Amino acid sequence: MGIIYSPQDIQNSLLEWFRLSGRHWIPWKLKKDGSIPQLGESISPYEIWIAEVMLQQTQLKVVIPYWEKWMKAFPSLTSLTEAELDNVLMIWQGLGYYSRATRIHQSSKILIEFVGKNRDQDPHSWPNGIDQWMSLPGIGRSTAGSIISSAFDLPTPILDGNVKRIFSRLLATKKKSIKDEKKLWEFSSLLISMIRPRDFNQALMDLGANICTPKKPSCSFCPLQKFCVAYKKYDPDDFPKKEMTKKKPLQEIGIGLVFNKNGELLIDQRLESSSMGGMWEFPGGKKNSYESVEKTIERELKEELGIVVQVREKLLSFEHAYTHKKLNFTVHICEWISGEPQPLASQKILWVSPDKLFDFPFPAANTKIIAELHKHLCIDNK
Ligand code: SF4
Repeated sequence: MGIIYSPQDIQNSLLEWFRLSGRHWIPWKLKKDGSIPQLGESISPYEIWIAEVMLQQTQLKVVIPYWEKWMKAFPSLTSLTEAELDNVLMIWQGLGYYSRATRIHQSSKILIEFVGKNRDQDPHSWPNGIDQWMSLPGIGRSTAGSIISSAFDLPTPILDGNVKRIFSRLLATKKKSIKDEKKLWEFSSLLISMIRPRDFNQALMDLGANICTPKKPSCSFCPLQKFCVAYKKYDPDDFPKKEMTKKKPLQEIGIGLVFNKNGELLIDQRLESSSMGGMWEFPGGKKNSYESVEKTIERELKEELGIVVQVREKLLSFEHAYTHKKLNFTVHICEWISGEPQPLASQKILWVSPDKLFDFPFPAANTKIIAELHKHLCIDNK
């Protein structure tokens, strides 16, 4: 890797910068009384674990209000294990990548066996080994490393997106390959401070968030400038190598809003094994190229629920972007003609009064439909 400076030089520069400019206010990194933990002092892993999973695909400023809401709803591991998945998904609603919430819920049942019901307030009851954390659903090496270093001040390296970017620039590593990923992990293990691992990992994350940003890094304020090959020899913006951004494919989706004679609306709960498993949604599905959207709705409702409907007026259509695809939703009010609805492609179905829809966890795209439906039915949400 051609290192011409010692890891300690980097540690010293980074830790001094962290002392002056780090984000020492992040709530889950503090003790219950709001003070900063001492060197080597353990703090509760529960709050850190939840925050780290939330942060996997989401920025800190977005995560904080969700984390606060979560901690009010499920203040301890024990309370989380006792919660229904529906309630967990409700708190997660709007944060996206819902499988993260489902996996947290699954992990809580595994963790409580290890920690013990009445001992979850004691950090020493929790696992502090990398393999133990990585055996939990949805926890990779970097998330595990971050939880352990933050909670127990142990030297477990991390390599999240921010840290990868910093290291790629420090080393001017351009290629993205498994071999390079392995080298970056080695670099992270080599650099981590054995004396202040918690602060060191946090300093890396703070540097990535505030100084070594994806575009136009603030190199003139960077404590690692003198060690940085990309800064000295190249344009740091060129590191790491950018992925070619592919155009997201667009898929047409037809959705049917079916009412019964009591004015209740039919919703179904996605299979646990599917993406967004456990979330509720309105019935419908993908349009085939040879059919109209009205035909799609009729076909999908027959296949999914075993009912025959007459597609009536259009309520709205809108586009919603996901990570790898865009969906164009067209939503129609439907008249229920025949057949008793059954969960043929879902785990549960329910008839729900339209004003109660927000009591259920829906993916973001469906919440747009609910808002429009409430306008249509003159339901005030204030
Ligand atoms: S000098 Fe610039 S590119 Fe290098 S680590 Fe610092 S901010 Fe990033």
